[in-house]
Amino acid sequence: MHMNDLALFPTEKDVRDYINGADFNVCDKWQKMVKEEAHLLMTWSGVSAKLLISNKRTAAYPCGVVGVNRTQLDRLFGTFTGAKYRTAVFFALSHEFGHLSQFSVFGVKSTFNRKRILVEAHADVLAGVWLAVRLLEGRVHKPNDVMDAGLKLKNNCADYPTGFQRGVLVQTGMQNAAILGMLEKQITDSDYRSIRKALQRQDVTDLYGTARRKLQITPDNP
Ligand SMILES: [Zn+2]
Repeated sequence: MHMNDLALFPTEKDVRDYINGADFNVCDKWQKMVKEEAHLLMTWSGVSAKLLISNKRTAAYPCGVVGVNRTQLDRLFGTFTGAKYRTAVFFALSHEFGHLSQFSVFGVKSTFNRKRILVEAHADVLAGVWLAVRLLEGRVHKPNDVMDAGLKLKNNCADYPTGFQRGVLVQTGMQNAAILGMLEKQITDSDYRSIRKALQRQDVTDLYGTARRKLQITPDNP
């Protein structure tokens, strides 16, 4: 669905009706996992969100809802297992939190008025920042898992960067995480969940310029 169409659903109720939205049930193991990953993103993005199970594709709505479609995610990442699968789901959610962050920092109207491909590129860079923090969990979560996940996401249509460009954009975000002070060396495998630092508004704005420049100089394919 085109981003402009998302504006047709101004309230949570509108979104619920559209996506046949259901509340998350933490008794379900998968839903509990997704909720945990989203909780980390709320902390690190500084944006709160209402998660709903959706029968449309996984997407963020301007009213603050993230609709999550397991069937769609499993179609993309179903061949992944264990930690790799979880990393991929986190990546998909991170991109959507990138959009929520844009709505929050730029405003909904200003976000929709921007060039779509830049809005998508920016969401990928923001996702990269949070992925870097997430990857601190270490051991089994590898940057290659992120690349593999990135290549399965939507690409090669006019409104999106290519798969290769998306991989580069995410890596750019990951490299920026250290500069932005989102990474601290003393963080151990177990306490990344307690990181309470959210991206600053200015950082989100600066990373838009970063995404634009990176997209300009990155070819469609390696
Ligand atoms: Zn997007």
